[in-house]
Amino acid sequence: MKSFFSLIAVLLALITFADQSNVTILIDPGHGGKDPGHLPLSESHMQEKDIALEISMKIGNYLTYNLSHVKVMYTRTTDVYPTLDERVQMANGNNVDYMLSIHVNGSPNPAVYGTETHIHNYNAKASYKWAQLIESQFTTRAGRKSRGVKTASDIGHSLQILKQTKMPTVLVECGFITNTSEGNYLNSAYGQEIIASAIFRATREFMKSKHPSIDFSPPQEITEQPDQPYYKVQIMASIDEIDVNIPEFKKLGYTVERVLVQSTSMYKYKYYIGPFTDKKDAKKAQKDVQSNGYSDAFVVYFE
Ligand SMILES: [Zn+2]
Repeated sequence: MKSFFSLIAVLLALITFADQSNVTILIDPGHGGKDPGHLPLSESHMQEKDIALEISMKIGNYLTYNLSHVKVMYTRTTDVYPTLDERVQMANGNNVDYMLSIHVNGSPNPAVYGTETHIHNYNAKASYKWAQLIESQFTTRAGRKSRGVKTASDIGHSLQILKQTKMPTVLVECGFITNTSEGNYLNSAYGQEIIASAIFRATREFMKSKHPSIDFSPPQEITEQPDQPYYKVQIMASIDEIDVNIPEFKKLGYTVERVLVQSTSMYKYKYYIGPFTDKKDAKKAQKDVQSNGYSDAFVVYFE
């Protein structure tokens, strides 16, 4: 009986230990180096490999800074070309739990646009769920047109990544750089930020559903201070500078102010509306912008 209880104790210790462990996500910015991927319509625009890297690094930052117990790895962080074999090897040889491959699409038909998330097949249940969450965030958070979840048989593109990795893997096509409007969006710091944020949100939801016993809460939460005289509403933060006169801000009907952040945070810029002396006005403005696509907007107190 005694040994039975010590066995239970050991098992409990193991379970506790498992809950403290990190979830490892390998982010794979598509193409790179000698392989540019899809080419843009305009020479002044970035090639697929560069946009994929920008978005990938942003997703990695979101995951690292906003979630506990998540370890982020990359197949590349610079303009180099790991072969598909090498990418698969990085995934299968490093105890990676999830793989996220980032691409942008292209078509000879410039009218084609929208996002797609690819999985190996529909029997890959975890990948399918993750892919659905990403496409759903693209629609709701990013206001993109979703072309849906696709299986590898629908395309002949980086099949190897989806087929040969041993963990849930999704390949995200973040839009078509060969469509004028979507190409402009994907080239903008704003578009890259929103796309990365949408993928981050979907991934966070997916992680929480797959690992209910892990507490992914970030180390510190921003708390609102009550009954102070002067408020602003923060609508978003960004790593790269975003022009405050873009239509996505103009449509809010409030003047958006950009502030350079003096901290070691990954975010270099914050975007506010206000100031409001009455907290009720700030709350109303917060509701307005939340219903206009900025669901995370929150009220901040300033001295
Ligand atoms: Zn690609």
